[in-house]
Order: sequence, then C-alpha cells, then structure tokens
Amino acid sequence: MLANKTALVTGSTSGIGLGIAKALARQGANIVLNGFGDVEGPKAEIAALRAKVAYHGADMSKPEEIEAMMAFAAAEFGQVDILVNNAGIQHVARIENFPVDRWDAIIAINLTSAFHATRLALPAMQAANWGRIINVASVHGLVGSAEKSAYVAAKHGVVGLTKVTALENATSGVTCNAICPGWVLTPLVQKQVDAKAAALGVSNDDAKKLLLGEKEPSMQFTTPEELGELAVFFCSPAAANVRGVAWNMDGGWVAQ
Ligand code: NAD
Repeated sequence: MLANKTALVTGSTSGIGLGIAKALARQGANIVLNGFGDVEGPKAEIAALRAKVAYHGADMSKPEEIEAMMAFAAAEFGQVDILVNNAGIQHVARIENFPVDRWDAIIAINLTSAFHATRLALPAMQAANWGRIINVASVHGLVGSAEKSAYVAAKHGVVGLTKVTALENATSGVTCNAICPGWVLTPLVQKQVDAKAAALGVSNDDAKKLLLGEKEPSMQFTTPEELGELAVFFCSPAAANVRGVAWNMDGGWVAQ
C-alpha cells in the first residue's frame, strides 16, 4: 500500500517508534529512522522487511539538527510523505520538586520537536497533495496523572498541534492525527515499573500488575505492533477524511 512512499519516524530506534516503522515498512514504505542507542539492530530489522532504510541521529531537542534530518531525508528519498512524530522522554516528580532542566527537555523533545518536523515536512506534502502526519501523543494528551506535569502538558500540546495541523490542511490530501497509547511495555515504562518495584519492595511482575491496575481496565499492555497497525490505518485510503482525531488505544483507561 505504501510503495514509493517515504516515512520518517522520530525516536524509532526503540519501542513504539520502531514498531510503527516496521509496520510502515511491511506496507512497502522507505523508512528514515532516528533516535539514540543501537542503530544497526533496528536498521537490520527494517531491511529484513525488504524496505529501504536510512538513519539520521538528530537530537530532537535541537531545531538545527531537525532541519538537517529533514534535508537528509529529502536528499535520500526525494521527500517525506509520512511523518511520525514519536520521540519522547518521561520524568516523574511532583511539581514543587520537578527539575527545571527536565521540564525544558520534555517540552522540547515531546512537543516542540513535532512543531519543527511538521513545519519542515508540510511544504512538500502540500505540493504533492498527499501526506500523513501522525503524532504519538498519549492518554496523557487527554487526561492527567500526578507527578507527570511536563509530560501531560507536552502531550496535551501535541493533541492541540494535531488539531491545528489537520484544520490548516483540511481541504487537501494532507491529514494529521494523533495516537494516544495507554501503558506500552517499552524502556520508557520499564523504568516506571522498576521504580515502583523498588519503592514498594515487590517483584517486577507485581509492579506491572499494580501499574496496570491503577489505570488500565483491560489489565493488558498495548503493544508497539498494535500501534503500528493504527498508523497503517491512518495512512490508508479509508482514513483520507480522518482529520485531527486523538485516537486512544489504552485498554479503557480514558473510558472511565
Ligand atoms: P522508548 O524510550 O522505547 O523510545 C523513545 C525513543 O525516542 C528512542 O528511540 C529514543 O532514542 C528516542 N529519543 C529520546 N530522546 C531523543 C532525542 N532527544 N532525540 C531523538 N530521539 C530521542 O519509549 P516509547 O515508550 O517507545 O515512547 C515513544 C513515544 O510514545 C513517546 O513520545 C512516548 O511519550 C509515547 N508514549 C509511550 C507510552 C508507553 O507506555 N510506553 C504511552 C503513551 C505514549
């Protein structure tokens, strides 16, 4: 379905971003990976799906590096047709104790980077009259949780940015939608499981059950594979008139 299209997925060396990149690669898209840590492993996973793959290591907190990444993607594959704004970090602390540098980093990486990548991707999508911008927000773009001020503020911002991007392009073939996962067992959440296990002196398995039990009626983690298939749907012809939604995949978290 996505042959000859190019997808750039930020923060795709791990977790949800890698799951979405693999799902788009299975549909035939060329993939531009981004993120830190092991690069060769994720590149090999995409190549094994017989998709063309490139990598750019832009730090998403740095606008000039985002500009270089977008130029690199265009030089490599012609243009970016599908932009998945996914890179994100978390920090958990009460507001009065929240480190100021963590606030700035979360807003920069989880919110402002999506603005920069979107503004840079839009002109080519508008010229082609086809584009898909998918913002990985969170249930925390829809509801709050204690001790996640910066993350909740950033993710609500991402949902707002999604709506405005969708509206400004509503008469064109360029759509923008947000995905709002509940708990997904990636390194980002494993840190929170570890912190809970240590704080309560319980096993890793018990900490996972406690985490799920607090928020997620299904008592199941959403998977990167499931989120990848939602991204594929947003790229499909059936989703041509899906514009500005914030679609939660959260085991019932925000239905309560
Ligand atoms: P993860 O830690 O597995 O992956 C994060 C990715 O972002 C990695 O590839 C990492 O290298 C990259 N990254 C981090 N800082 C970066 C920077 N400055 N520049 C470039 N890349 C950077 O986490 P994940 O759980 O897969 O999270 C992906 C997205 O999904 C995030 O936006 C997160 O907020 C969101 N999300 C996660 C969950 C969850 O339960 N895991 C739930 C809702 C939303």
